[in-house]
Amino acid sequence: SEVTNITNRLDAFLGSVNIIIRGKGRSWKWKDMLRFPHISQCMELAKTLERDYYSLCVKQPIGRQLFRLFCQSKPELQHCNSLLDQMCVQVVERYGESDLHEYLSGAPFLQYQQSMYFDRFLQWKMVERQPVTKHIFRQYRLLGKGGFGEVWAFQARASGKMYACKKLEKTHVKKGKGEAMALNEKQILETLNSRFVVSLAYAYETKQSLCLVLTIMNGGDLRFHIYNMGTSGLEQDRVQFYAAEVCCGLHHLHQMNIVYRDLKPENILLDDNGHIRISDLGLAVTLSEGNLVRGRVGTLGYMAPEVIGNDYYGLSPDWWGLGCLVYEMTAGRSPFKRKGERVIGKEMERRIQEEEEEYGKIFSNETKDFCRLLLTKDPRDRLGCQGSGVYGIKSHPFFRTINFRRLEAGVIEPPFKPDPRAVYCQDVQDIDEFSTVKGVILGRADNDFYIKFNTGSVAIPWQTEMIEMGCFKELNVFGPQGSRPPDLDW
Ligand code: ADP
Ligand code: MG
Ligand code: MG
Repeated sequence: SEVTNITNRLDAFLGSVNIIIRGKGRSWKWKDMLRFPHISQCMELAKTLERDYYSLCVKQPIGRQLFRLFCQSKPELQHCNSLLDQMCVQVVERYGESDLHEYLSGAPFLQYQQSMYFDRFLQWKMVERQPVTKHIFRQYRLLGKGGFGEVWAFQARASGKMYACKKLEKTHVKKGKGEAMALNEKQILETLNSRFVVSLAYAYETKQSLCLVLTIMNGGDLRFHIYNMGTSGLEQDRVQFYAAEVCCGLHHLHQMNIVYRDLKPENILLDDNGHIRISDLGLAVTLSEGNLVRGRVGTLGYMAPEVIGNDYYGLSPDWWGLGCLVYEMTAGRSPFKRKGERVIGKEMERRIQEEEEEYGKIFSNETKDFCRLLLTKDPRDRLGCQGSGVYGIKSHPFFRTINFRRLEAGVIEPPFKPDPRAVYCQDVQDIDEFSTVKGVILGRADNDFYIKFNTGSVAIPWQTEMIEMGCFKELNVFGPQGSRPPDLDW
């Protein structure tokens, strides 16, 4: 382990040198790494791919681009592109298939599948589905430590995009019986697609660990910002902004019938620009159609009364959690604990179930009213849990300055931008090294679980990476009049 340690550090160091020398940090072999297979090698994929217009031409970013290039190439379809420009995926999701999509999903979609643009889509798809190993990433600094392993800054060698890699040490997972939890986290993350929740771009395994490659969040967590920036508590505009973004993240989860169950400042991470995302979905659970769940999970001090009481619940614990979060961001302490006080489990639970929280002068009337409504003990009376659902929350006066439509479109400037030179976390030297647990033997049964975990790239984030980093544009060239350029392996 000494040796791997030194190798890791050396690798991280060399990686930094690489960035300095080459700027963007793409590997010099990047075109080889993303080489298109010959179209004849895509036939198996062509046979098995589900021909769903919405998935192929709307949701998947590369599919969408190629379908639009196809429309551009047909005089009778060109006007559709300008109409598509005015629409975004969210609009389509909200209002169902618009007339335009209804039309495009008919004959044009059939024609598209006969075109060279669709062939190209299959080629991209094959590249996307290449096996993922640790060799396609470069490893940089340690970002944090979780229950089963460390989180490191990673870079995809082919595109240069930075990510956070959450490693789950296989021996730790086995010793802590964390298999179901790890798989659950991975499976929930891969179904999500929201700017307010970390995205999973790759899931793969190495000899020692299971790895989740996630959106990198360099700005520290809200806990750090509430307590370690000199003052305790945040200004009201920041509280409103973070609360609003968390609210959108929760809304996205809830639309998919997922309860998050672990809302607390530590789990809300900031990116370089000051936007936040919900992270750490280890305790999230999908509710089956119309059903409730039970389970005393969460973090002491943030669990809702119905969770502590071991009742059946739906999405209500998350709105309680939002109340705790807004309270803590405002007051610089959690609602049921005085500053610096240590409270044992039983007493904390009693306070949550029985005591009414107090509001000091620092709370404005709207903030107080908002927290009170969210910290309602009985989930049936709680804001967000009634008929109007999340709209009841979004229309509360606390959010009067927030334009949710613009927020969801990502066009609102955050009130605080992290300093790019600062490191918003405890000194990484203070984080103990992870080593393998001795005496845990990994066998055949474990392998079945690793296979379920090790699914490689996740379509939407991977395609987004290709487009965002310019790889798509540079590689997706066609010859004159759509002839096949010789250098691209057509
Ligand atoms: P666990 O589920 O074991 O608690 P977390 O997902 O909370 O693990 O990750 C552990 C720590 O790693 C976090 O507290 C944070 O400091 C860091 N971390 C996790 N995800 C990211 C990310 N996407 N970007 C940057 N740092 C992260
Ligand atoms: Mg955590
Ligand atoms: Mg977790």
